[in-house]
Amino acid sequence: MGRNDLLPLEQHRLLIDGRHVAAAAGRSFETIDPATEQPIAAVAEADAADVDAAVASARRALAGPWGHMRAADRGRVLHRLANLIELHADELAALESRDAGKPISAVLRQDLPAAIDTLRYYAGWADKINGQVIPARPDALTYTVREPVGVVGAIVPWNFPLMIGMWKVAPALACGCTVVLKPAEITPLSALRVGDLALEAGLPPGVLNVVPGFGKSAGRALVDHPDIDKVTFTGSPAVGREVLAGAAGNLKRVTLELGGKSANVIFADADLDAAVKAASAGIFFNTGQVCSAGSRILVQAEIYDEVVERLTARAKSIRVGSPAERSTAMGPIVSQAQMARVLDYIAIGVREGASLVTGGRRLDGPGYFVGPTVFANVDHDMRISQEEIFGPVVSVVRFEDEDDAITKANGTRYSLAAGVWSRDIGRVHRFATRVKAGTVWINTYGYTDIRLPWGGARDSGYGREHGDAAIENFTEPKAVWMNLAG
Ligand code: NAD
Repeated sequence: MGRNDLLPLEQHRLLIDGRHVAAAAGRSFETIDPATEQPIAAVAEADAADVDAAVASARRALAGPWGHMRAADRGRVLHRLANLIELHADELAALESRDAGKPISAVLRQDLPAAIDTLRYYAGWADKINGQVIPARPDALTYTVREPVGVVGAIVPWNFPLMIGMWKVAPALACGCTVVLKPAEITPLSALRVGDLALEAGLPPGVLNVVPGFGKSAGRALVDHPDIDKVTFTGSPAVGREVLAGAAGNLKRVTLELGGKSANVIFADADLDAAVKAASAGIFFNTGQVCSAGSRILVQAEIYDEVVERLTARAKSIRVGSPAERSTAMGPIVSQAQMARVLDYIAIGVREGASLVTGGRRLDGPGYFVGPTVFANVDHDMRISQEEIFGPVVSVVRFEDEDDAITKANGTRYSLAAGVWSRDIGRVHRFATRVKAGTVWINTYGYTDIRLPWGGARDSGYGREHGDAAIENFTEPKAVWMNLAG
């Protein structure tokens, strides 16, 4: 069914300085429901001029009431925002589900609770950001204070728009920073709604500005802006490199959370029921569009065939369908471009000689649906085993022994996460020590918690988010010397 042309599309404006404004250039873009391929809303399209206005507003807000507010009161605002998001959970979940094609049940179970938990966790931090007295010498009182880093540019991807947005906004605000938030152009709606709720929660105007727009214009303007003090970016390694280069202009602080090609390693002595169940969820959750997706399953030779068989059975049983249905486990890929990329990689895998065991094609009907796809007999060196696909495609690779498992697990450009399955406690700890990953899951896969550091090195990123790492990211220590000499 086509869009009802009699109904005008819902319009959304930018949020700058506490007001809803049209883009300076008057442009807007449509955001598409990936399950129906129909537009959901027209959204004002920020470019450099709007980013300028947002940064100026954030700078004023930093010097204004936000900069003078008691830390505990900042925490209260964050608590109120968490409560408002909870109050509007159904509305926000529906918005996020439609905009990003995420199953509504998953948004309600995972994205929203995680966003709320993040806000409450950092609300608690707001009045606990302490300096230290460091007795350097007897003739001086020497101490440190931690000050907000300043105006933060937050650039967010489309796979967890609300949750990753809050991973950035909550600690930045707790630390007393002000923020210009640029959601991904494919999924701008939840950030705009949260911007409204933040005002309702009592956040002063200009403390959180939301500027949807494209990476090459709004994103780049934010990255290059001389009056931004820090950029916190989550996205692809290619853009991460551009962010670093752009940040060189005024030496702004940078944190990058980038991609992954995480290995989920199953030894022959593992609990296979649990391992295969988690391995399937580890790749097919969120249609494989997860930076820490277990997109390489490394399986010890003696159980290889059995694992492929069980994994394939699971993949075939996943309910793929409309994200609005509560029973749907897997929704569409987020956009036509991303679907094309995924299908391209599937073709590459076939050309490389891997065995396509199940899936591998676009499903009929409207929407960017690709079935859960399993490749077996994948060589470690093949592109489908080395490059991030960011879709519902898994490569099952054979290994012989512990050394081989570690070599293969560490053998990509990424280092975000890894999983290991074995009943041998010595082996799993050796693995945790030797594997290059920001997070290691032992006999489980895929959990994140805002209290634990998150991030990776190499093509997976630069720095860590979450926990007290984020407090360090959004503050600068200042050393104070007070002369005590008489
Ligand atoms: P992307 O890099 O294309 O876009 C991410 C964001 O950056 C978007 O908001 C986009 O508009 C913006 N952007 C694009 N070009 C820009 C530029 N030149 N300057 C400034 N901003 C720009 O990534 P994506 O396709 O939206 O997301 C997928 C990627 O993100 C994957 O590689 C995935 O692994 C990664 N990711 C990582 C994590 C993590 O925590 N490590 C989480 C989610 C996604």
